[in-house]
Amino acid sequence: MTNIDGVKVAVRVRPFNQRETEAGSHCVISMTCGCTIIYDPKNQGHERTFNFDLAYWSHDGFVKDKDGLLVPNGASSRYADQKKVFCDLGEGVLKSAWQGYNATLLAYGQTGAGKSYSMIGYGANRGIIPIICEELFQAIKKSQEKKIQYQVTFSMLEIYNEQVIDLLSKTKKKGGLKVRENQQQGFYVDGLKLVPCESYAQIERLMEQGVKIRTTASTSMNATSSRSHVVITIHFKQIFLEEDLTKQSSINLVDLAGSERQKVSGSEGDRLREGTCVNLSLTTLGNVISALAEAAMGKKVVYIPYRDSVLTKLLQPALGGNSRTIMIAAISPADICYEETLSTLRYAERAK
Ligand code: ADP
Repeated sequence: MTNIDGVKVAVRVRPFNQRETEAGSHCVISMTCGCTIIYDPKNQGHERTFNFDLAYWSHDGFVKDKDGLLVPNGASSRYADQKKVFCDLGEGVLKSAWQGYNATLLAYGQTGAGKSYSMIGYGANRGIIPIICEELFQAIKKSQEKKIQYQVTFSMLEIYNEQVIDLLSKTKKKGGLKVRENQQQGFYVDGLKLVPCESYAQIERLMEQGVKIRTTASTSMNATSSRSHVVITIHFKQIFLEEDLTKQSSINLVDLAGSERQKVSGSEGDRLREGTCVNLSLTTLGNVISALAEAAMGKKVVYIPYRDSVLTKLLQPALGGNSRTIMIAAISPADICYEETLSTLRYAERAK
């Protein structure tokens, strides 16, 4: 099992939110020379440095001054907007798709850290998923190649409590859709809607519809949407009409459930089950990705635990092998989120 580039990891810090500003929070993150440093707010002088492939800063900067205090540095040049993130990460995903390789882009982090902002975006600040979809259709349109036929299909599902819910279908199946396995496809979701798409506008509408169904579904289950994973898959097929050749690839775009530690011990019923399921799938994903990272470094990896969660089963064809895997670790800059942020950085570090 080999992975072409290993796993690429980007960390993205969001600006302070209102709650953090009102609480007078300090910044505990700095990003210099490609390193991400986190300072322990309760233990002055204690810091940890992480090296990821990319580090994105979202506001006008804080650096450590000569006395070790964090001060604004106005380094707006390091500010990374949605376009920059797409250029660094999304373009490679599209390139793989054209070459016929699968790709998976995951956003990990605590609730409110910026996963949806990076992946889907808000209003005019469109995230990486819409930009990828739009660029794909633009490239298809530009291609004057008459001898190639292009097909794009779109699916959007949610994994909640290890059950699969189709976010493009208004009828909800009790117990969720079944995950099955066969020799040609590996794992697949039986009965999932795969919608053929001919334009970006169509995908935009489907995504809106999916987000709406997700909200309604989580309300009716008395859950919050942060407790589920959303998996958007774009299947891209190029049929070379004069040759007996087809290139296929799937791009998985995954907005993971919030990584905040679940107090499973004190919970009961629905909350206990929710917490256990989220913990199980994020832990399994971490184990799969770190096994892949070890394999990419040439270590002999005997077992990759794909089968241990629904999420990793469904991502299996697009994780490892010749697939491109990218993780965005979304973090808050604030001292009040220190523990969760450190745990996100540690999780992302296992992918390296
Ligand atoms: P999550 O999906 O991790 O729960 P969101 O993506 O919804 O978190 O982000 C929480 C809030 O922070 C949103 O209001 C979002 O607009 C804002 N936000 C997140 N990341 C950024 C960023 N990089 N730049 C500006 N605002 C951001």
